[in-house]
Amino acid sequence: MLPAALAEAELSPLDAAREILRRTFGHAEFRGLQADVIQEVLSGRNALAVLPTGGGKSLCYQIPSLVRPGLGLVVSPLIALMTDQVAGLVQSGVAAARLDSNIEPEAKAETWRRIEAGELDILYVSPEGLMQPWMLDRLSRTPLALIAIDEAHCVSQWGHDFRPEYRMLGRLAELFPKVPRLAVTATADARTRDDIRAELRLTDSAEFVASFARPELILSAERKRGSAEKRVVELVTARPDRSGVVYAGSRDKTEKLAEALRSAGVPAVAYHAGLDKRLRETRLEEFLEADHAVMVATIAFGMGVDKPDVRFVIHADPPGSIEAYWQEIGRAGRDGEPAEGITLYGAADMAWALKRVAERDMDEAAKQVQARKVRQLYTLLDGAGCRAATVRRYFGEEGVEACGQCDLCLGTVETTDATQAAQKALSAVHRLGGRFGRGRVVDHLLGKTKDVSDWESSLSTWGIGPELSATQWRDLTEQLLFEGLLREDPNDGRPLVGLGDAEAVRAVFRGERAVTMRKHPEGAEAARSTRGRGKRSKEAMAVSETDRPLFEALRSWRAAAAKAQHVPPYVIFHDRTLAEIAVVKPGTRAMLASLNGVGEAKLAHYGEAVLEVVGGFA
Ligand code: ADP
Ligand code: ZN
Repeated sequence: MLPAALAEAELSPLDAAREILRRTFGHAEFRGLQADVIQEVLSGRNALAVLPTGGGKSLCYQIPSLVRPGLGLVVSPLIALMTDQVAGLVQSGVAAARLDSNIEPEAKAETWRRIEAGELDILYVSPEGLMQPWMLDRLSRTPLALIAIDEAHCVSQWGHDFRPEYRMLGRLAELFPKVPRLAVTATADARTRDDIRAELRLTDSAEFVASFARPELILSAERKRGSAEKRVVELVTARPDRSGVVYAGSRDKTEKLAEALRSAGVPAVAYHAGLDKRLRETRLEEFLEADHAVMVATIAFGMGVDKPDVRFVIHADPPGSIEAYWQEIGRAGRDGEPAEGITLYGAADMAWALKRVAERDMDEAAKQVQARKVRQLYTLLDGAGCRAATVRRYFGEEGVEACGQCDLCLGTVETTDATQAAQKALSAVHRLGGRFGRGRVVDHLLGKTKDVSDWESSLSTWGIGPELSATQWRDLTEQLLFEGLLREDPNDGRPLVGLGDAEAVRAVFRGERAVTMRKHPEGAEAARSTRGRGKRSKEAMAVSETDRPLFEALRSWRAAAAKAQHVPPYVIFHDRTLAEIAVVKPGTRAMLASLNGVGEAKLAHYGEAVLEVVGGFA
């Protein structure tokens, strides 16, 4: 609902939207494509918007919900996301609520009363909740401002996070033909976008695709060597006093990693779907409210993490696709400050991922797409070109330049020609008949197989590879697996190596296809940590040593205010806003109001308290 003062001023809808951006949300200007998307929705048309994580997608539907008459309906797949957004909106003085299976009957009744009295501006619902007949029936008698479908890629089988219940949302087109519908997502390649349009019946709608650049993210990836657990502990302890997320492939692993981190003195907790609901809630709350804590989670959980000051995301196990990679890494640095995304990966992970795809209950074409997505991810992880640029090109961006800060941009990736060695390895695998694992193949090449049989030692490939060390042969085998020249059968945890694509293997033997090997020096990590230190000073730049005591005082005030209301601190003010306050030291309400992130409601609620804290340092 438009504040009366704005309605009287007879502003154009977009000007009214800008007023709300300023007054309610405390931001000076629209960012990126926000104004275009909002304009489209305000004109009553449907749209599809693809904006990167942290790009401000939610304002694209929240503001039109306030400008247009009627209730703004937001479909969201996860209760954790809804909870956070509703809490944030309420802090900003917006009449928002959510209806989901966790809400008590009385609260539900009160929400319906507000809806029917026209008092509510924004309502968050789950897709399955919305599509219940009684819900649709009740909403059909309610004037709607718009219907927003968040995380719209969930509707697509070509996407990476297909949710069958999203398919039902296509019916909204005929159920509410007059209500503009806006589909938003942070990750969708061209094919997924086509699918979203078809499934959600947005065929003729405008499409807004923002740049996927996330300049604050510093990306790196490294092949797993030895114990991944040890490596994760090293990486995390090298980044003390910051919030981070560590993703692991299984529940069991999250527990073990969290334990290992705690033993190393890191405040880490595990989070996965197997935990009791209560425990999950408290752990999530602890993580969200802590200034520095590490969450070790399964990939499945991720979407609920919306903490702005996550400084690193580490994949102890790789994600499932480039979309998933970008989304998961994207949870770092949402406040726009520098953050790192570090991925550990191996050829065995790729083999498992391909096997899982093969076993999924899907049609062949869909399986092929998923398998290709897996391969594309490993090409990115094990490749030699700028990581950020590769991701952006994958999403269809053109004219993309190298980021200049990922491990591959910084470290010069050294390559050597390994065609001859590859021929040796391939023939060894061929002669061994695909019946052995990697370690055994390496031993064979070096002629070091323990208790070797006469059969094996009489093969022409036995001991033909003294020129490389065991580690180098292992690296090469890994490389051949990534290139599809070798294939690994997971064989229930005791993987067997066999020949890969026959045509490609022949090309290598004939010398028509070269194999170049990347050297994997420790140098990449070294380069990054120096870089990391450089970045740290940039991060601290916002608040100088002189202003730091005030900044810290503001943070303690915020922590207390958040605790009293049982909300995460960042829904009150982001660190960024506190940093601005500490630097500017506003002496009056008007000065405070001019800062980014200080809207009218927050000024009314917290203005006095903040000015008092600032006054104590005058
Ligand atoms: P996402 O696209 O990931 O859903 P959000 O909508 O949560 O992103 O916005 C990310 C952050 O950017 C939030 O902290 C929000 O307050 C901030 N933000 C959004 N729009 C603007 C803007 N126009 N100016 C300044 N900050 C903005
Ligand atoms: Zn780069």
